[in-house]
Amino acid sequence: MSEPSFPSADELLANNVVAASDGRPFLSGEPSRRLAVVSCMDCRIDIETVLGLEHGQAHVLRNAGGVVTDDVIRSLTLSQRYLGTREVLIISHTDCGLSKVTEAAFRSELYAELGIAPQWALEDFTDPADAVRRSIARLVDSPFVLHTEHVRGFVYDVETRLLREVS
Ligand SMILES: [Zn+2]
Repeated sequence: MSEPSFPSADELLANNVVAASDGRPFLSGEPSRRLAVVSCMDCRIDIETVLGLEHGQAHVLRNAGGVVTDDVIRSLTLSQRYLGTREVLIISHTDCGLSKVTEAAFRSELYAELGIAPQWALEDFTDPADAVRRSIARLVDSPFVLHTEHVRGFVYDVETRLLREVS
């Protein structure tokens, strides 16, 4: 396989022309499994493959850490209210970058370099299972996310590629 180009937008646009002609049917905007997945953005997690999800089955919300932030609450609120999802999976993982930097170090690094620190929290953690528990608690406590009877959390092992449920 040849090295991908950088920057890659032109190559990706050419890929899009090929992808758009693959004959796949037009889909509803409502996820057919009524599922939303919150996952870390880590590029080792191919979330559709990990879960055996097909196109159109789920909303996949990704950010650094797979953390339930206010913005994830925003998306889940819309997902449940207008697009019918009723189940949420939250996925963190081993070897996450957020376990390798601390809030204090991050903030002081930015402040020293830029003279300003962000309003938002880094959401660092040492144990990915604890991060999942924290996210589940935020979800359950949110007054905006009404359907929390089917919420489960997992840690994805980047070496075995297996999910372990967080209890
Ligand atoms: Zn991560």
